Amino acid sequence: MERDYLIKPMLDESYKIVSHGQGVYLFDTDGKKYMDASSGAVTCSIGHGVPEIIDAMGKQANAVSFVYRSQFSSHAAEGLAKKLSEITPGDLNWTFLVNSGSEAIETAMKTAIQYFQEQNRPQKTKIISRWMSYHGITLGALSLSGHPERRFRFQQLLESNPEVSPPYCYRCPFGLNPASCNAKCTDELETAIRRTGAEHIAAFVAEPLVGAAGAALTPPEGYYEKIRDICDRYDILLIADEVMTGIGRTGKTLAMEHWGVLPDIVALGKGMSAGYAPIAATLVSDRVMRPIQQGSKLIMSGHTYSANPQSAAASLAVLHYIEKNSLNDASAEKGKTLMKQLQKLQKKTSIIGDVRGMGLMIGIEFVTDKATKKPFSKACHLTSRIIKKAQMNGLLVYPAAAGIEGGDGDAILIAPPLTISEEELTELVRLFSKTISEIEAEIIRNKGE
Ligand code: PMP
Repeated sequence: MERDYLIKPMLDESYKIVSHGQGVYLFDTDGKKYMDASSGAVTCSIGHGVPEIIDAMGKQANAVSFVYRSQFSSHAAEGLAKKLSEITPGDLNWTFLVNSGSEAIETAMKTAIQYFQEQNRPQKTKIISRWMSYHGITLGALSLSGHPERRFRFQQLLESNPEVSPPYCYRCPFGLNPASCNAKCTDELETAIRRTGAEHIAAFVAEPLVGAAGAALTPPEGYYEKIRDICDRYDILLIADEVMTGIGRTGKTLAMEHWGVLPDIVALGKGMSAGYAPIAATLVSDRVMRPIQQGSKLIMSGHTYSANPQSAAASLAVLHYIEKNSLNDASAEKGKTLMKQLQKLQKKTSIIGDVRGMGLMIGIEFVTDKATKKPFSKACHLTSRIIKKAQMNGLLVYPAAAGIEGGDGDAILIAPPLTISEEELTELVRLFSKTISEIEAEIIRNKGE
């Protein structure tokens, strides 16, 4: 076999080559068909090969693909920023365009720090985050990420450590019930702020539903209302990392809208262009921009490809498509159907401990014993076995972390394109049930492993 030249996720594994995509399906070069039940990395939310998007990209390419942002703006980038302001709540009226979720988080961090600098409070620089979180792979975003496996090699370079527990209702560290806990886990934010001193803290960052680091951890009633209140009382900005949850994934443009909570800064990515081009954004409220407008007049961030017209045109076309086809509502509705079917499956199987999430962002956590919630041993490699078995059955699902230490458990995310049809949803559940039955049979054969 010819040697590899491309560095892929695992050097010792071989990867199928994709041939093409159509709707919720991908096809490899051997002709095998896969249902893309995770939208790649929870990205491809309108499915593959949508002609309107391809047309819009072609038109933009014919006009101009690239300009440098300090020389020219473009109708595509201006239109996209305006559209984002229109579809998001409150005064989130400013957009800084970048190319990945990690960059959106880095820009959010810098904007929060700058907001206080412009008001002569340069000591407010620390950003508090939670364990079981993923905010990106660049060093700033990684330092906020409560993801031990991704952190440990670079620990010495990381600026800060996450301090606050996530809302992990299935394994509540306080042993409480989400219906009556009064979001006790938010107390930890207040404790963390008091320990460091609010005068040193710029912001708190959280994923509304924890994605890859927790398999759709969903907060208890009142959680974000309390978080917002704590941030306000201590004069700390609230950054919502909506890179995974944003743009319809949970049934609303921003997941924060479910609780009527308005963040000061929002990071978007993934679904913004549904995978048609690399683009992401940091949305900033009027309130946060005001001192920057009155002060240095620039946010000290940006990349060569920031606000490039080609990606902006793709994203704008995707946002129009989502609106025209009411895909936020579709996500909410289809999410309910899928949730019910997966909960039914949970009852029939011995290894599904929890099914959680909102809209078409559903997490499934696996346990050896539903009563004790004991995770499988690491040696069992259950998550990767499920991913591989599903792939063999023509179904793509996404690996996620779970468990008490946020890495000692097994979980996956199911997050199909918001365009998935009823029949395709049924097929998804059929393929997933088949996969789980086969894995259960293997576990029985291997005496629990
Ligand atoms: N934040 C969240 C919540 C994410 O899920 C991700 C990607 N999985 C990122 C940030 C980083 O985005 P990117 O991979 O585009 O840099």
